[in-house]
Amino acid sequence: MPRKIVIIGDNASGSTAASAARKTDREAAITLIESEKYPAYSRCGLPYVLSGQIQNFEDLIVFPMQWYKMMNLDLRLETNAKAIKPAERNVTIEKEGKEEELHYDSLVLATGGRSFIPPIKGYDKKGIYALRTMNDGKLLREAMKDVKSALIIGAGLIGLETAHAFVENKISTTLVEMLPQICPAMLDWDMANIVTGKIQEHGIDVVVGATVKEITGNDRVNGVVISEKDKGERQIETDMVLMATGVRTRTELVRQLGAEIGVTGGIRTSADMSTAVPNVYACGDCVESHSLIDWQPTRNQLGTTAVRQAKVAGTNAAGGYSIFPGVLGSSVTKIFGFEVGATGYTDLQARRLGYRTVTGSITSRTKAEYYPGGEDIKVKLVVERDLARVIGGQIVAGEEVTQRVNMLATAIQMQMTAQQLAKTDTCYAPPVNVTIEPVSLAAELAITRLRRS
Ligand SMILES: Cc1cc2nc3c(=O)[nH]c(=O)nc-3n(C[C@H](O)[C@H](O)[C@H](O)COP(=O)(O)OP(=O)(O)OC[C@H]3O[C@@H](n4cnc5c(N)ncnc54)[C@H](O)[C@@H]3O)c2cc1C
Repeated sequence: MPRKIVIIGDNASGSTAASAARKTDREAAITLIESEKYPAYSRCGLPYVLSGQIQNFEDLIVFPMQWYKMMNLDLRLETNAKAIKPAERNVTIEKEGKEEELHYDSLVLATGGRSFIPPIKGYDKKGIYALRTMNDGKLLREAMKDVKSALIIGAGLIGLETAHAFVENKISTTLVEMLPQICPAMLDWDMANIVTGKIQEHGIDVVVGATVKEITGNDRVNGVVISEKDKGERQIETDMVLMATGVRTRTELVRQLGAEIGVTGGIRTSADMSTAVPNVYACGDCVESHSLIDWQPTRNQLGTTAVRQAKVAGTNAAGGYSIFPGVLGSSVTKIFGFEVGATGYTDLQARRLGYRTVTGSITSRTKAEYYPGGEDIKVKLVVERDLARVIGGQIVAGEEVTQRVNMLATAIQMQMTAQQLAKTDTCYAPPVNVTIEPVSLAAELAITRLRRS
């Protein structure tokens, strides 16, 4: 009898788990259950359809139906997994009111997350949106046709990328963030201020340190009341609101199942992505991850993490062996022609965790000074004082951020010290870099600070 593998959720992690399971066991009967009507697509691409850089939402479909056929995967779209019976190893699924029981030898939970909508007074008025699914994107794009102004609550990456899309559509945009800076999970305030300056240059009104008290309007939104420390309350008029206020894990099924939920609200797994329930694995946005630096629990809701975890979950669910080492939260974005990336801890996060740190920050260029077309690049490194270990890095530049963040992620993962990073054998030619790699230069500055501290 072929092994029966059931995967709940068919997005980044579900589809990747299915692919890994198929590569591990060519005979397995693999079924994917997905409540949306599309096969796996890139949520990450949604803001770029809104901005017009990508034409159609359907262009975001990563795995078309032929792929599932070719991989011999039984994909059930518009189908809900309603219950799991671990004793019988059955999943109850439902489509158009018809229920079916699916037996499994291994089960993979790839149920992901949903947008968190805080219950702010007036949150249920017309004209309030979130951006998580393709349908959300389609609704938002329609709404964008009729509005002149928009207000985004939450200045994380989704807030920023959608603000960019609004501006590209000539919508006057306000970004409101509760914390005193934008991108608080990714950047320290000094780096965040550079990004704030850049987006302000493109006409976005950035309001930080402001709590949204109420969304006003009769049936339909017409404004938002915010409260700012020392300034009190004021109303900002707007035709539309986007809630970019975070993602909550979808763990309803797991709670019924009795799997453990971690302190961050995600499903707890071991390094092989198995849950506490026998033969049940979990991966992606629905799980709790651990920091590669010190194994601190963290929720790392990134597509990159989802696919890496899913490779491990799918391989193990199909009888193979693989281990997931942890996360650094490496992330990057590009808005208005400049790039922002980070990995590991920010200085603030590290200090809050009890690390004694020094930082090394430099501004350099992406090409030789005399070579035309170079851009400014700002690199900030976070170094743990006791062992001189690099534990974080942030980069803002007109170009060439991604692979430097990847370089830093490798350095952190390999537990490199600032001294080792400063002496890395990097490359240079005038059209592509300066002689001393900016990351190494930042490491040298951190070493100077280490000596003084
Ligand atoms: C606008 C936006 C931009 C992003 N940009 C980036 C980026 O640039 N880089 C990056 O790394 N990450 C990015 N992300 C995050 C990335 O999209 C997620 O980390 C990734 O989608 C997680 O994949 P997942 O499969 O674990 O979860 P999800 O994508 O949430 O998929 C889970 C699936 O499970 C289905 N499901 C859940 N419960 C059931 C059930 N009971 N029955 C049937 N089906 C069910 C859901 O319908 C869903 O399709 C972005 C996200 C958004 C929203």
